[in-house]
Amino acid sequence: SHVARRIAAGEVVSRPLDVVRELIENALDAGATRLEIELCGGGLDLVRVRDNGAGIPADSVALAPTRHATSKLSAGEAGAALHVTSLGFRGEALWAAAQAGELHLVTRPAAQVGACEVWAQAEEVRVGRTSAPAGTTVTVRSLFARLPARLRTQATAGAETREMTALVGRYVLHHPERHWRLSVDGEARLTHAPADHRGAVATVYGPLSANRVLTVDLPAEGGAGVRGVVSRPELTRARRDRMHFAVNGRPVLAPPELERAVIAAYAELLPAGAAPLCVLDLTVAPEDHDPNIHPAKQVVALADLPGVAERVREAVARALAAHPL
Ligand code: ADP
Ligand code: MG
Repeated sequence: SHVARRIAAGEVVSRPLDVVRELIENALDAGATRLEIELCGGGLDLVRVRDNGAGIPADSVALAPTRHATSKLSAGEAGAALHVTSLGFRGEALWAAAQAGELHLVTRPAAQVGACEVWAQAEEVRVGRTSAPAGTTVTVRSLFARLPARLRTQATAGAETREMTALVGRYVLHHPERHWRLSVDGEARLTHAPADHRGAVATVYGPLSANRVLTVDLPAEGGAGVRGVVSRPELTRARRDRMHFAVNGRPVLAPPELERAVIAAYAELLPAGAAPLCVLDLTVAPEDHDPNIHPAKQVVALADLPGVAERVREAVARALAAHPL
């Protein structure tokens, strides 16, 4: 079926960055309000995400790292695949991580006495009991150690660490109401306490940047909701890497139409070639959005892209009009 093909599509874990993204999305899906990410050796030695989310019950923990095991989409709901609102539902991420490296998972739902522990590597899965706080900690070690050809094509540890750090920053920007911590090779890189989008800009870009942004808030009434921040026109420079979009909580590579819509809202306020800093969370009806076209590539498919782009333009234009220079 097309659902099965979509589920099978794409390689889920081709680099450490993919592991970081999938583990963070699982934690968000589990409702975590506190996420701690640890990276070592460019993610090849270790990627760990600790969360305080719902946990995995003892009776299903052994299934979690098996292929197509997902608690987010049952066979009877396959036709509803396009409508799920959780970030991931392919049931392949933990499986793929265990194929590519050594997976270790400790998990406890708050109401359960005692935690479960799972080790998974290639086809081997072992389960044990332990004690742990409520939530889940997933650790992936020795990524691609069994796949020398894949290991050879990896970026340097420094380059991958930069991209993983930027990815975590994007999640912080789009989920500012949660606690976040990132450490790299044992050193704290980023700490964020719950705040609004402006606070997240301060965390990611420094405290001065927070004063450079205006609040955008267009409620989802009869169209996409658009919330976040954009930079004040007079403080906008030609930086193309600072436009961040998320659709229904998932950071995405924005289609150029959305970037153009933001720039269009500034009209003559921006010098030619300049691009604002923006963090925009878009809320669209689940049936208008297919998050899984290219799971690993963060491409987003919006049923009505021109309509959403117009909402983005309107939201930003209103924010700019409400804050005269
Ligand atoms: P998917 O997210 O597509 O369902 P994954 O392989 O990423 O597939 O995860 C498999 C299953 O393991 C999930 O459906 C979920 O039930 C469980 N799981 C994974 N990570 C977590 C987590 N951090 N907290 C709670 N449950 C988790
Ligand atoms: Mg997942």
